[in-house]
Amino acid sequence: MATALSSRSHSAVPFISPHELTGRTSGHIVQLAESGLRLHHAVADPFRALVAAAGGAGIVLSGVSGFRDFEHQLSIWNGKFRGQRAVLDREGRPVAVERLAAAERVRALLTWSALPGASRHHWGTDVDVIDRAALADGQRFELSPSEYAADGPFARLGEWLDANCERFGFYRPYDVDRGGVQPEPWHLSYAPLAAPALADLSLPVLAEALETAPIEGREAVVAALPEIYRHYVLAVAAPSALALAPVVSRAARPS
Ligand SMILES: [Zn+2]
Repeated sequence: MATALSSRSHSAVPFISPHELTGRTSGHIVQLAESGLRLHHAVADPFRALVAAAGGAGIVLSGVSGFRDFEHQLSIWNGKFRGQRAVLDREGRPVAVERLAAAERVRALLTWSALPGASRHHWGTDVDVIDRAALADGQRFELSPSEYAADGPFARLGEWLDANCERFGFYRPYDVDRGGVQPEPWHLSYAPLAAPALADLSLPVLAEALETAPIEGREAVVAALPEIYRHYVLAVAAPSALALAPVVSRAARPS
């Protein structure tokens, strides 16, 4: 990708190796002391700046899921494939996966779960967020589109992110339905690092990560891999110029 090639010459961008791209190592990850959230080391400060700015608007922006490794994604995948974990369709209704042939099962899983090795959460650049201030004590959340709808608890967070997240380098890769991953208004991505990561996560890199993994549905996954790669990895929103070169990176940053 042209954007990645041009940013390659930018020495400030810490690149991610094939093992890091596919979640098989975590050397690029740090744990934030204040929240326990795990992120790429170069994303920690931009995320803190985003949290601080949201706080000024009365929003307690909290990352509920940052880095996830390959093994974790694999256990989710295998559990769902075997019918040990719930699988939902696009409308949120349960799917009886045991009645589906392997290829259909793979497709059903991909609606709400990334293929191990193909999750943007492996990079540490992506984080699912909520507004804790919008939840009553003990109120649960599930990361559903309705929570971010106009009458949902996170409507204000969604609007604030629309207006502000790009100047901190964050954007939403899953903004609309492109036939692959469903819209995820809670999923933020740090563009200056995620854009080159996406360019580096080639089909051969993904295939290599899966080669020796004990993944359920292997044959169906391998047969559909080029299509999965196209629809579930590449079919995402492109970050804006502002998100790619956040204003805060040149301004005062929190210590
Ligand atoms: Zn996510």
